[in-house]
Amino acid sequence: MITAKPLSSQQNAANGPVRWQSLWRDAIRDPRELLDLLGLPELAARVSDAAAAQFPLRVPRGFVARMRPGDPADPLLRQVLPLDDEDRVVPGFGLDAVGDREARGGTGVIHKYEGRALLVATGSCAVHCRYCFRRHFPYGEETAAANQWREALDYLAADPTVAEVLLSGGDPLSLATPKLAEFTQALAALPHVRRLRLHTRLPVVLPERVDAELLDWLAALPQQVVVVVHANHAQEIDAPVAAALAALRGTGATLLNQAVLLRGVNDDAATLAALSERLFEAGVLPYYLHQLDRVAGTAHFEVPENRARTLHAELAACLPGYLVPRLVREVAGAPAKLPL
Ligand code: SF4
Repeated sequence: MITAKPLSSQQNAANGPVRWQSLWRDAIRDPRELLDLLGLPELAARVSDAAAAQFPLRVPRGFVARMRPGDPADPLLRQVLPLDDEDRVVPGFGLDAVGDREARGGTGVIHKYEGRALLVATGSCAVHCRYCFRRHFPYGEETAAANQWREALDYLAADPTVAEVLLSGGDPLSLATPKLAEFTQALAALPHVRRLRLHTRLPVVLPERVDAELLDWLAALPQQVVVVVHANHAQEIDAPVAAALAALRGTGATLLNQAVLLRGVNDDAATLAALSERLFEAGVLPYYLHQLDRVAGTAHFEVPENRARTLHAELAACLPGYLVPRLVREVAGAPAKLPL
């Protein structure tokens, strides 16, 4: 029998707030511990040990605290629990659904679209999302920070058409702030790079990551900064997350959200509308609603394209245009995300 730790381990009364790295390390990694915490031990029979071995469960306790105890259909739980649905082999669902390997521009550099280059800064994430399109990516060989950013910076220096650099991953904010600053200090020497974009789920799943050191670093960057966060359901955005987002906005960064359309998580118009409303309250504009990338082990999350279009039309009918994210699919080799 696993002894579950309390959900309220975000604060250490004796020592004050615990730094984000401790919370990171304290993440839940055992599906059965997670299910015990939520009062759902019977769901353990549906956990896939094979899926958990290939892509382990990882979820911060603060994110678990936003799940509804006793609800096996909780939309946050569905995003992180490795179920036997993942063991099904479904034709059309492969290992590299979005053509990342073909677009490789150097160690950790993916250069797909004109004017922008993406750095796979690190393979680490605070949470492991079961639908992740990079769950099979060979991070061992392919992270830009691994060689002190040298190869990535050489690549960017050699291509003056790159006006925007995206730090992605994994989650780039899983790197310590001094490691990020090491990169941006060198990047400042490349005048053709005018914008820095961060793709991160950390402010949502572990808002303690947005600490004073991170905010100081962001506020001092010479480039325009765009932070694209990732939330799929309004339930993910509680008061600490909203405070973290407000602090990020206070640095002058533009905040956008990308979500993935996921069966059983957010595939109805009311849920999507609530997400847009909650994001806007927190100062974030809904940017993309992604059709699921067809990655092995994720077929049970797919929403058929016709249904996705209908949902998007329903959303457009009930929200102002600026709260309607663009419904897109990424197609390997295409020059941009394709609107549906
Ligand atoms: S945080 Fe992003 S990169 Fe990391 S597992 Fe989730 S979807 Fe994938």
